[in-house]
Amino acid sequence: MNNDKRYMKRCYELAVQAGKKGFDTFGAVLVHDGKIIEEAENTADWEKGIFGHAEFNLVHKCANRYSDMVLKESTLYTSCAPCERCLCAIASLGVENVVFGVSYEAFSQLTPGDAFPVDRESLLRKLGIQMKLTGPVLEDEGMHVFEWWGSEYRPLEELIAEMAEIKAADKSKERQVILRTVTEKDLPEVARTWPSDHSPVSKEEAHGAISYMRDNHAKNTRGCIHHLCLAVCGTEDPDTIMGWCGLDGRRSHTEPEIFILLDEEYRNRGYGTQCVKELLRIATEDYGLPGVHGGCDKDNIASRRAMEKGGMIQYGAEDNGDPLFRFIATEKD
Ligand SMILES: [Zn+2]
Repeated sequence: MNNDKRYMKRCYELAVQAGKKGFDTFGAVLVHDGKIIEEAENTADWEKGIFGHAEFNLVHKCANRYSDMVLKESTLYTSCAPCERCLCAIASLGVENVVFGVSYEAFSQLTPGDAFPVDRESLLRKLGIQMKLTGPVLEDEGMHVFEWWGSEYRPLEELIAEMAEIKAADKSKERQVILRTVTEKDLPEVARTWPSDHSPVSKEEAHGAISYMRDNHAKNTRGCIHHLCLAVCGTEDPDTIMGWCGLDGRRSHTEPEIFILLDEEYRNRGYGTQCVKELLRIATEDYGLPGVHGGCDKDNIASRRAMEKGGMIQYGAEDNGDPLFRFIATEKD
C-alpha cells in the first residue's frame, strides 16, 4: 500500500472514532519525514457554535510547536477536502501540501448545497500562498466513513438517497430565473421597473435605457465586458421583470463587477443566488473571463449570502466594512 493510502486510512479511523463519540466523521493527520507527528478528530458542536473541524484542531495542536521548516516539509492528510476556513488555517500554519480523501464533489452528495467548481489552489496562489491539494485518495472507503456520522450508523446509499430527495424538493420549490436582454416590446415593464430616483420612469426614458443597453452590449466581446445589463425574469412568467442584474466593466473589462437589483417583493427567495450563479456562468463560459468581482453593503445580509451561495468568496473588505467578493474561473489545462 502506498504511503498516501496508509495515512488516509488513519484519517478514516480517526473520523469513525469521532463519529462513534457523537460527532461528525472527519479526521486529519500531519506527516513529517514519513511519520505521523500529530492527529486530530472533528469536535464540531453546532449547537454550542464550536467550529472544531478536524483540520482546524490539527492546526491548533501544531501551532507554535513545530518550526516553520518542519511544517513546510510536512503534509496534512484529511479525510475530506477542507472547507475554506480550514484551508486558511492550514495556510496560516505554513503547511503547503494537503492530501484529501473524499473530494468536494463526492461530499456534496451528502450536503444540501452543490459543490461549486472553485479552483482553490489558483485562488490561494493569487494571494501569494503556495498550497498543493491532492486527491481524492481512497474516496469510496472515505464515503463509507460518513455512515458513522453523529454516532448512529446508517448505510451510505440511504444517506445519499435522503439528501437527493431533499435537494429535489428544494429545486422544485424555487422558481427558476431567466436573465435576458430587453427589446422594445418590454417598454412598459422597463418603464415600471427601471432603477431610478423616480419610478416608474417615462416611456421616453425607458426607450433611452433600452437603446443604451443595446449599444453597450454591442461593445462586449469575448474576453472583454463594457457593460452587460439583463432583466431578471421567472420561467413561469417571463414577461414580468423582477429586477436587473449584470456585469459592470468600468473598473476592469476582464474582471467586471457583478450587480444585482431585485425589486423588494422578490428578495430573500433565492433569486439573488441564482442570478449570481448565472452571471458567473455567462462571464466565464460565454465571455471567457478569468474572474468576476463583487461587493455589497455590509448590512445587506441577503446580498452577502447570495454572493457566497452563488460561488463567490469574500477576500476582504472596503474601509467602511463593506465585504469584497471575488470569483476566479477554474483554470483549464
Ligand atoms: Zn473545515
